[in-house]
Amino acid sequence: MRTNNPILIGLITVGLAIFYFTTLSMKPEIETDAGRIRSVKPIGAPKTKKLASPAEILQRQTVPVLCYHQIRDWRPGDSKRAKDYIVPPVSFNAQLKMLADSGYQTILPQQLINHLKFGDPLPRKPVMLTFDDTDLSQYEIAAREMKKYGFRGVFFVMTVAIGRPGYMNASQIRELDSLGHVVGCHTWDHHNVKKYEAEDWTTQLDKPLATLKKITGRQCEFFAYPFGLWDTSAFPHLYKRNITAAFQLSAPSDSVNPLYSLKRMIVPGQWSLKDFDKRVVR
Ligand SMILES: [Zn+2]
Repeated sequence: MRTNNPILIGLITVGLAIFYFTTLSMKPEIETDAGRIRSVKPIGAPKTKKLASPAEILQRQTVPVLCYHQIRDWRPGDSKRAKDYIVPPVSFNAQLKMLADSGYQTILPQQLINHLKFGDPLPRKPVMLTFDDTDLSQYEIAAREMKKYGFRGVFFVMTVAIGRPGYMNASQIRELDSLGHVVGCHTWDHHNVKKYEAEDWTTQLDKPLATLKKITGRQCEFFAYPFGLWDTSAFPHLYKRNITAAFQLSAPSDSVNPLYSLKRMIVPGQWSLKDFDKRVVR
């Protein structure tokens, strides 16, 4: 139909304008990373966010970030110290159940970073579950148990171990990534970063980051220090390699770059469920 009726043309123009402003211009902004949606900014969200000062970031560091290694029953030869790193499956399962029953929801590193840097909201009871050293039990026991509750975690991989007996292989790591867990870097062979010289950064960071990218198809952004040990000389090396945040254990965070020294709590195998309740659950 052709028309020269100016009133009709005017009505159509106004209608299109209203359509544009109420729908197209109000579309939520979606940030994606290699095809996976990372965050969706709700309609009407402010475009620029205020970056928190290091002091504010330190103050906001209240989310429990738990650190596990092996999930297995103790063997007669396990020393008292080793048991700090070996949580029996029955304890681990009970801990997850307690978190779920108490209303906890797991968060991933990017959510934590957005909260620390910009004050983005988190679930009412947030917790982060992290796993170091590539142990096979993390895939076979921990990830399976987490699935029951819709929990997701972070697996810090030491790349030298990939595919060795008792450790995860590349396809298991890829599967964790595709299930929505995050794969982080935990160096090549677990040497203390405080002792690295120039060449060591290539061996312990560049090559492992390339290996992980080959496995998951995405750039690894998160790092965990071997033994939790760090000093500020590591920061420029991490920054240069696009690491967004680095996790240690329980030393105070750096007052200038807290995101490169985020605190975690080891859950020792000896803890009773009562200990876990007292120290983690609020
Ligand atoms: Zn480790």
